[in-house]
Amino acid sequence: MTVRAALAEGSGALEGSGSGSPFLDAALLLGHALGVDRDRVLASMPDELDASSVEAFRAFVARRSSGEPVAYIVGYKEFYGRRYTVDPRVLVPRPDTELLVEVALSLLPPVSRTGGGPVRTVRCHDAFTGSGCVGVTIAAERPDVEVSLSDASPAALEAARANALGLLGRPLDARLGDVLSAAVGPFDLIVANPPYVTRELTDRLLSTGDGEPRMALDGGELGLDIYPALAAQAFDLLADGGSLAVEIGEEQGPAVAAVLESAGFGGVRVHADLAGSDRVVSGGRHAVR
Ligand code: GLN
Repeated sequence: MTVRAALAEGSGALEGSGSGSPFLDAALLLGHALGVDRDRVLASMPDELDASSVEAFRAFVARRSSGEPVAYIVGYKEFYGRRYTVDPRVLVPRPDTELLVEVALSLLPPVSRTGGGPVRTVRCHDAFTGSGCVGVTIAAERPDVEVSLSDASPAALEAARANALGLLGRPLDARLGDVLSAAVGPFDLIVANPPYVTRELTDRLLSTGDGEPRMALDGGELGLDIYPALAAQAFDLLADGGSLAVEIGEEQGPAVAAVLESAGFGGVRVHADLAGSDRVVSGGRHAVR
């Protein structure tokens, strides 16, 4: 069987299985079976595959057809240009969440370039860190910022620690605790991608065999359960002039903006992603930004 024929068979099998991108998934899975990346697969269409690679590929396609995310099968997911190790301990990083990183980076005080005088360390905390993708990206993009992580899942925290070490070459302070209970302020910035999916949608997603942690998705009946505690705790932990940025579901902008305002935040803004959907809400502890 050639690479071309295997991709046709695999994407055909994934068609209608709930995969939004059957051909892309098949190419990633075939690359995984062959130990090469997707681009190599696409550049070798006429090549013959050996029987064991075909067998491995078909097993991966069967897992994908049963609803398992490609990222769990191949063991990684690209996020903001870096490769995060993922497995069912953590939510698969979503491309949408890159907006949270963009907003976070824009809210951090700029790198101090002034000579002379002591430079104050800028501090940032990533709550509900999961794989660590948000906090680790911030730490990688802004090595001058002291980043800490927390999560209520010990297993997720292990995954985040491993990603920090693997991608940064140094550990990040990672603490076990729900919402912001483990975070030690004051911070200049708090970021969070909390569970915000409605209970009904969470049930539907998990019933397809997705296998992601319920606690990373389920935000209660309206998906809004966590935000009041998150906003109140963040307000207490932020330095004057510090900011909070949280990811939201696309219909939650006005509700979450109101939660931040009643927790005392000023300059509250709702940010839309590239598709035009509301995705992030930010606010400042003191100054209007
Ligand atoms: N954006 C994710 C999804 O739609 C949810 C992430 C979350 O709840 N934090 O599946």
